[in-house]
Amino acid sequence: MSRIGVFLCYCGSNIAGTVDVEAVAEMARSLPDVVYVETNKYTCSDPGQEGVKNAIIEKGIDRVVVGACSPRMHEPTWRKLLADTPVNPYMLEVANLREQCSWVHKDREVATAKAIDLVKMAVAKVARLQPLHSIEIPVHKKALVIGGGIAGMQTALDIADAGFQVTIVERETSLGGKMVMLDKTFPTMDCSACICTPKMSEVGNHPNITVTSYSEVENVSGYIGNFEVTIRE
Ligand SMILES: Cc1cc2nc3c(=O)[nH]c(=O)nc-3n(C[C@H](O)[C@H](O)[C@H](O)COP(=O)(O)OP(=O)(O)OC[C@H]3O[C@@H](n4cnc5c(N)ncnc54)[C@H](O)[C@@H]3O)c2cc1C
Ligand code: SF4
Repeated sequence: MSRIGVFLCYCGSNIAGTVDVEAVAEMARSLPDVVYVETNKYTCSDPGQEGVKNAIIEKGIDRVVVGACSPRMHEPTWRKLLADTPVNPYMLEVANLREQCSWVHKDREVATAKAIDLVKMAVAKVARLQPLHSIEIPVHKKALVIGGGIAGMQTALDIADAGFQVTIVERETSLGGKMVMLDKTFPTMDCSACICTPKMSEVGNHPNITVTSYSEVENVSGYIGNFEVTIRE
């Protein structure tokens, strides 16, 4: 059986001004496997974090739900906090009660009902999580740019100038994309070819860039840092 701890944040009045956080907490106490529920004015503050840490240890919590701001804001904070406890940092689910709830609703009843649903979903999900462990793996320090228009050429040049090998896969027979077909470009009315052709030549001559024109990506497998790409030439 899991031992889930739920920590709900007021964020001052940011959440509590619209969501009845105590009602959400009351509901959370009735959920399966939830052994502890706490509300806090500012969970990310030092005393707030200390309280979460102490509760995890004292109550033997093994999974954590934080109902607070967006995970984009504080998920790293909670993971770091968990790393200092016996709980695996990935046994965590964040219910976004601020950006996706209190900040976008005016009606307290509606916002509270939504917060209750968000916390229920987070508790259901956290119960199914498996612990994860970070590993280090070697990375292919090469880049693939799909499309050799002005954006693709500049991207390739930036990466190549940083010292990495780049392959541009271009579907047409030549680089340049839309821009090379234009006469002048708004708003400066610069000559498009005068901007585009030096880049085409720089790309063509760059020792770190390989261009495969009249080609398309057929298949991509693998994962970030270790993709395997098949190119149809
Ligand atoms: C008529 C017209 C007038 C414009 N006027 C202006 C202007 O005055 N000022 C301004 O700032 N902008 C203007 N633009 C917009 C500007 O030209 C584009 O925003 C710009 O060229 C886009 O560059 P890009 O590299 O992102 O894309 P693109 O130029 O479209 O390049 C994409 C490249 O990717 C290749 N490609 C696509 N799919 C694949 C695939 N699956 N595999 C391999 N290769 C692929 C294409 O062949 C192409 O070479 C205009 C655009 C048009 C059409
Ligand atoms: S944890 Fe997020 S929601 Fe809570 S006080 Fe801090 S910023 Fe506000």
